[in-house]
Amino acid sequence: MRIDILTLFPQMCEAVMSESIIGRARNSGKVEINFHQIRDFAVNRHNQVDDTPYGGGAGMLMMPQPIYDCFMNVCSQTKERPHLIYMSPCGKTLTQERVKELSKLSNIAILCGRYEGVDQRVIDEIVDEEISIGDYVVTGGEMPAMILADAVARMLPGVLSEPEGFMGESHYSSLLEYPQYTKPPVWHNMEVPEVLSSGHHANIKKWQRERSIERTLERRPELLEKAELSKKEKAFLEELLNTK
Ligand code: SAM
Repeated sequence: MRIDILTLFPQMCEAVMSESIIGRARNSGKVEINFHQIRDFAVNRHNQVDDTPYGGGAGMLMMPQPIYDCFMNVCSQTKERPHLIYMSPCGKTLTQERVKELSKLSNIAILCGRYEGVDQRVIDEIVDEEISIGDYVVTGGEMPAMILADAVARMLPGVLSEPEGFMGESHYSSLLEYPQYTKPPVWHNMEVPEVLSSGHHANIKKWQRERSIERTLERRPELLEKAELSKKEKAFLEELLNTK
């Protein structure tokens, strides 16, 4: 997969995306991530990319032309036109389900806004989808874009060391992850649940699924509507609901 990020701060993004799992995935060619400086496409003498909003109001807006030209430049480098996502608090909130779908595309591009955002006309002209990372506002689209690129890249084959390592994780199948433990076996008088050291694979799996169901019911009950549960797990959930 190829991911192209259009930003005024490519170095900020490069630093984040060069470390750890994503950095290794890039080095081994499992994902290609490129950063494009929107300012390189400014057409005025001062390389200005923002201006005051028509109708007044606080702050500045990113002008349409540099963004458009930057995206056209990206398109000229890719076999097919990338699916262009604008990171925006006005977009649909990102979910693991959408991450899964996006990871199946061969090429996505992500536009990072700054200032008070982006001229609507360039959104109407080239953006395919607007995605929000949550109901709050941050200063720029770079961190939201990193979150999206990271979430998508880690779903690609070979990026995580455990194949399909993400399958038991929170949100993959509409359940939150069960509690986990590592060494030492006793810490601050708290013991690791016995079943986890039993070596009995089926019992461990059952314990983990039940703790996932319990935790989801407690913290995010609305997720359970979409969760795929076996007959026994449904009965377990029923029992939990009855004892509530
Ligand atoms: N004036 C805009 C509004 O009220 O919707 C917010 C602009 S924000 C200060 C600047 C940029 O940060 C946005 O263009 C967007 O790219 C990014 N951004 C801020 N919050 C975001 C969020 N929750 N999700 C995705 N992107 C966000």
